Amino acid sequence: MKIMRLKDKVALVTGGSRGIGAEIVKTFSKEGATVYLNYNNNESKARSISEIYNNVKLIKADVSQREQVSKMIEYIKEDIGFLDILVNNAGIMLNMPILEYDEAKVRKMFDVNLFGTIYTTIESAKIMREGSSIINIASNAGIGTSFMNTTYYSLTKAAVINFTKRVALELANRKIRCNAIAPGWIETDLTIGARSREETEQLKKFLVENTTIGRWGSVEDVAKVALFLATEDSGYVNGQVIVVDGGRKDYLTHSI
Ligand code: NAP
Repeated sequence: MKIMRLKDKVALVTGGSRGIGAEIVKTFSKEGATVYLNYNNNESKARSISEIYNNVKLIKADVSQREQVSKMIEYIKEDIGFLDILVNNAGIMLNMPILEYDEAKVRKMFDVNLFGTIYTTIESAKIMREGSSIINIASNAGIGTSFMNTTYYSLTKAAVINFTKRVALELANRKIRCNAIAPGWIETDLTIGARSREETEQLKKFLVENTTIGRWGSVEDVAKVALFLATEDSGYVNGQVIVVDGGRKDYLTHSI
């Protein structure tokens, strides 16, 4: 009989309707957790997951709006009472060259990627049980990869990484751990959604050549690490950033 590694655990995954977040929701559900799937615009995609996977409950909220985040956590508190796992996954990437700085786009990225993570963390912490795990989905961009036009996005993720370490420090007295995953290029709407087929092929070629593992990353690659961080298997891991990028050659020797 399969051992359910998240039996009796309650998780919240932000941005669970698509991409990496959706795969984490599925993985946690398969391991026995009750999973609150937060989405913003894609109710139909969120619903298609909750119809198939056990104990997946949908909550709409824009994580960049503190009031909405607060209501989301209030709802969970009334519905089930507590949280054991939070995955701050919701994120957006709006690329531009440094000198084509677009104030509105940069602020939007900070609002969702950084402030969304802050709001959801501080509100969730109010109902987290001892032994809880917070997992922030950062990016290898946040530790200094040099892919063109992602500078402002990388700043939001660098801030998420620093926030991760500070949360680990301050919430340790409540036995709440906080770690980050820094994915490389993973095939989702975020990376290939806005690209032509030709651009996607070029990007894939670049990544295959510049990655020690020699392939593009999958959502499963990230979800498996999220599962590790969610369980007591990682009980002695705190304040860390796990890079899941296939071992990029262009910065491997000087990464954190
Ligand atoms: P994706 O396929 O574009 O999905 C993004 C998810 O975030 C969607 O579920 C979306 O919800 C949700 N979202 C966006 N804005 C939101 C908001 N304001 N409030 C609540 N939810 C919101 O992206 P992904 O590639 O899976 O990326 C997930 C995370 O991994 C992001 O933080 C991203 O920065 C990070 N990451 C991705 C890669 C990669 O290569 N894909 C690499 C490094 C890091 P709706 O669809 O319902 O609006």
